[in-house]
Amino acid sequence: MATGKINVSVDNIFPLIKKFLYSDHEIFLRELISNATDATLKLKHLATLGEAKVEYGNPKIEVKVDKEGKKLHVIDQGLGMTEEEVKKYINEVAFSGAEEFLNKYEDSAKDAGIIGHFGLGFYSAFMVADKVEIITKSYKDEPAVHWSCDGSPNFTIEESKKKERGTEIILHISEDSTEFLEESRISELLKKYNKFMPVPIKFGTKTETLPKPEDAKEEDPAPTKEVDNIINNPNPAWTKQPTDLKDEDYKSFYRELYPMQFEEPLFHIHLNVDYPFNLTGILYFPKLTNDLNIQKDKIQLYQNQVFVTDNVEGIVPEFLTMLRGVIDSPDIPLNVSRSYLQADGAVKKISSYITRKVADKLSSLFKNNREDFEKKWNDIKIVIEYGMLSEDKFFEKADKFALYPTVDGSYFTFEELQEKIKGNQTDKDDKLVILYASDKEAQHSYIEAAKAKGYEVLLLDSPIIGHLMQKLETSKEKISFARVDADHIDKLVQKEGNQISKLSDEEKEKLKTDLESVFGEKSSYTVQLEAMDSDASPFIITEPEFMRRMKEMQQTGGGGGMFGMGNMPEMYNLIVNTNHELVSEILNTKTAKKKERLINQSLDLAKLSKGLLKGADLTNFIKRSYDMVK
Ligand code: ADP
Ligand code: MG
Repeated sequence: MATGKINVSVDNIFPLIKKFLYSDHEIFLRELISNATDATLKLKHLATLGEAKVEYGNPKIEVKVDKEGKKLHVIDQGLGMTEEEVKKYINEVAFSGAEEFLNKYEDSAKDAGIIGHFGLGFYSAFMVADKVEIITKSYKDEPAVHWSCDGSPNFTIEESKKKERGTEIILHISEDSTEFLEESRISELLKKYNKFMPVPIKFGTKTETLPKPEDAKEEDPAPTKEVDNIINNPNPAWTKQPTDLKDEDYKSFYRELYPMQFEEPLFHIHLNVDYPFNLTGILYFPKLTNDLNIQKDKIQLYQNQVFVTDNVEGIVPEFLTMLRGVIDSPDIPLNVSRSYLQADGAVKKISSYITRKVADKLSSLFKNNREDFEKKWNDIKIVIEYGMLSEDKFFEKADKFALYPTVDGSYFTFEELQEKIKGNQTDKDDKLVILYASDKEAQHSYIEAAKAKGYEVLLLDSPIIGHLMQKLETSKEKISFARVDADHIDKLVQKEGNQISKLSDEEKEKLKTDLESVFGEKSSYTVQLEAMDSDASPFIITEPEFMRRMKEMQQTGGGGGMFGMGNMPEMYNLIVNTNHELVSEILNTKTAKKKERLINQSLDLAKLSKGLLKGADLTNFIKRSYDMVK
């Protein structure tokens, strides 16, 4: 037996590794299985080149838990190592890799921003083991080797009797890591990190039911047999060519990724580039709700089929983190902090490639099957609107396919909308006024008033639409958005030529005094007398566009720019149509009591149609109404 001392400057690097990587101990298994996979694929490569005179066969990797013996085994049938190679690759390369890692990340490893992938490799085994053994036999005709190390820089190396080619790593699990002796824990880790690795991974066996033989009786149990429990799918869909996959294959891969998800994805995008960076993957558009926050962190990042993280912040543009699926790229530097990642040139290119692919896919869906695209619009609009807001490149493309639905269920692109309404909805200042509602039911009477004028009313109800309207108003010329209840309809789209008021100035003064004496000082309504069509409503409550939109934008975060606006009370105007018969009647009523009743009733009706009549006011209104119908 030979003994030796590994040449490292840090006397005992293991306690340090443990300390720095405390929360990431579990990655040791991924690292060992990655090495086993590398060794297997290297052998395959040598065999195809004809360099290794070996039968490649159907190699697999096996993980075994020995709870009694407190050991964990990772066994491969790869190319193995000779004694020379163990000395070189394990004692020197792996150790120096670990040392280099420590020097480099001593400070930044404490920063939680680091992604859980450190390239620490073989030595991460010492995070969970007191002692590690390697028993390995090279594909070359040399004796097998048994290496052992207890975590100090001292190691032993001797010959072993191992006959079969390949490597077995034995971890003697330490007292504080016994969780890794639990089958359920190992199974969980294998599913998390190794579900799509390219070499089959066996973890125990499972019982498979076989078909009953022809002559079996009804009551005979079906025959069973024990088979290897292979935990991974070595050929996941994203590694295949899009031309080899059918729609159903994409759907079944989605179910494989999200077994708990019952809803089917709306469509997918297959990513596949190898220059100037290498990236494959499949992104899915799920049905999205209006809640921005709960739907993130569903995209998984892999490197060569090894799971790295499900937090793709910085790699995928923010607005696409609502999608699902897989991205696999060896070109994303992972041993750096998030802020560095975002500044990295390659990562920026990756991010804009993904954005472009998503925009192109949406654009082709729109062009090839508009009807279907319209049907899906409601479930995908949040991503598109978010993207238009946050990425100018995406805005340029999406502006051609983003849809603006009307309350009647027609869908227009912005250009189509402009074309459709410019004749009727251009105001006297040559500005195109785009009317919208956010709630068809609540704003019904206002929508009807707009329709009576022949105007189109959009239905815009996503939580970030205020921000998008703001962006459209500044990036396009002479347009403005106004919610149907922002003012009375003649004011919303103001045309040349004023309506003539039936009331004289004196009468108006008197009406105002009458109204104010009933409303009292505490009234939260600003009264505005307007000469309107005689068949328009006599009393209308409106909520000015600007203030309301600012408030809403503040609630969805950022953008509003007016600090503290979220806490402002709502502001309402009470529009009184001086040309309406009822208003004349109020003015001309002699008895104070009746006048008061008419005013209160009218105000309540206006409140009712804006959904503002509640509590005691509503109760009084109902009482008063019964009295009036008697
Ligand atoms: P890396 O995988 O990044 O090269 P590691 O520390 O994980 O670094 O491994 C160091 C080296 O040890 C590998 O490059 C490989 O040469 C060798 N090695 C590790 N595990 C195995 C194995 N199971 N079979 C053959 N060689 C291995
Ligand atoms: Mg490795």
